[in-house]
Amino acid sequence: MTEMKRRTFLRAAGGAAALGTLGFPALVLGAARRVVVVGGGVGGCTAAKYLRKLDPSLAVTLIDPQAAYTSCFMSNEVLSGERTLESLTFGYDRLRAHGVQLVQDWAVGIDPDKQQVITQGGNRFDYDACVVSPGVDFKWEAIAGYDAQIANERIPHAWFAGPQTLLLRNQLQAMPEGGHVVIVAPLNPFKCPPGPYERASQIAMYCQHHKPRAKVTILDAKDAFSKQGLYMEGWRKLYGYGTDNSLIEWVSAAAGGAVEELDPDTRTLVGLVEDFQGDVVNIIPPQKAGKIAFAADLVEGDWCPVDKGTFESSRHPGIYVLGDASSAEKMPKSAYAANSQAKVAVAAIIARFRNQEPGDPTFVNTCYSIVGEDFGISVAAVYSLDSDTNTIEPIPGSGGVSPTNASPEIREREVSYAHSWFKNVINDMME
Ligand SMILES: Cc1cc2nc3c(=O)[nH]c(=O)nc-3n(C[C@H](O)[C@H](O)[C@H](O)COP(=O)(O)OP(=O)(O)OC[C@H]3O[C@@H](n4cnc5c(N)ncnc54)[C@H](O)[C@@H]3O)c2cc1C
Repeated sequence: MTEMKRRTFLRAAGGAAALGTLGFPALVLGAARRVVVVGGGVGGCTAAKYLRKLDPSLAVTLIDPQAAYTSCFMSNEVLSGERTLESLTFGYDRLRAHGVQLVQDWAVGIDPDKQQVITQGGNRFDYDACVVSPGVDFKWEAIAGYDAQIANERIPHAWFAGPQTLLLRNQLQAMPEGGHVVIVAPLNPFKCPPGPYERASQIAMYCQHHKPRAKVTILDAKDAFSKQGLYMEGWRKLYGYGTDNSLIEWVSAAAGGAVEELDPDTRTLVGLVEDFQGDVVNIIPPQKAGKIAFAADLVEGDWCPVDKGTFESSRHPGIYVLGDASSAEKMPKSAYAANSQAKVAVAAIIARFRNQEPGDPTFVNTCYSIVGEDFGISVAAVYSLDSDTNTIEPIPGSGGVSPTNASPEIREREVSYAHSWFKNVINDMME
């Protein structure tokens, strides 16, 4: 990266004022600083790549148990048959080319006094700064009768893209014509707020082509959801929503959509008002920060509190928690948010290494959802930090949802924007 490009990046990420000139860090600092990154998803990859790009003297180690990253974003398209899981899977070689050292292992603890990350394989990695971006874990206890084994074998959550995505896809294909798909959507906050509704849409699209008498019911623990007006507009236009023959039905919490228990043998969900039986059942449980965040004492409640100007943990200095695991209100838990937060944290880490103050951050989020063939919708915002309240606030007028009753050309264009956004974010993480 040229000097000028580095400055442009830092300005965008909010660190330009703090960093000033960026030449010859090794000469200024002496020995190479070590940054250990836990989690090779969106936040972790983006942080590792940009740390190396902005300061090639840094020794950056990324720890993740997987040999490749499989993106959840766009994984709903696997369910409709629009894409393969392979098209979502990316090896870490491109990060190696940036000089990032890859370690394939689980992080099981972080010792903030010794400044070490400990792995399941028994190794300890010294750090001067540590980045933690492990994503989410599930609150299994929320739905009695549901657990990790049942999810793996019979009733997938498919909220991590991988074998469960294929299991759900196979179950949809094996479902009889006229079958009933039940999706259980969780309470906020959770990874990808519009995701369950995009999933229902993609499954409805599959059924429309292959099992037109099928029905998709969303049982919701909430009374409202992200981009609801746009989704319902799409469902009305594409799937007969609101009519007796609708392919999709949404049951809000107030209407009895909240479920407490699963009978896995009969695939019956016990609700507060009535029970629901499905031929295919997909339960997306409520969520909390990934396990390592709890093991490393980074969590308060369900998520990791951070200084939102830097994403440094409020509990343990020198550890930066990004992405889904962090408390980053009012940003949603999205890939774009994790990518944006990673850049702010990178700027802050490099500023800290240079004994400089971090700058004022800005953040970006855009989230596309594909409701049906040639029917895309989106929400976008640019955010700034209110440092008095440590809240990330959308800048008024900076975004919003895409227009209702837009022309077919606009809806079609949003699908192509969604696909190009996907390529761009993967490239920005790794390329
Ligand atoms: C169906 C679906 C659709 C989505 N669609 C979109 C979308 O269209 N747009 C959008 O912006 N977002 C979307 N998202 C959300 C997006 O996937 C997440 O918000 C994003 O991946 C968060 O990044 P992250 O770095 O926090 O976590 P992740 O990307 O989940 O990465 C976490 C990584 O940490 C690793 N890890 C976990 N524990 C450990 C440990 N102990 N040691 C080492 N490594 C560990 C994991 O292996 C993983 O690689 C979608 C999500 C789903 C489920």
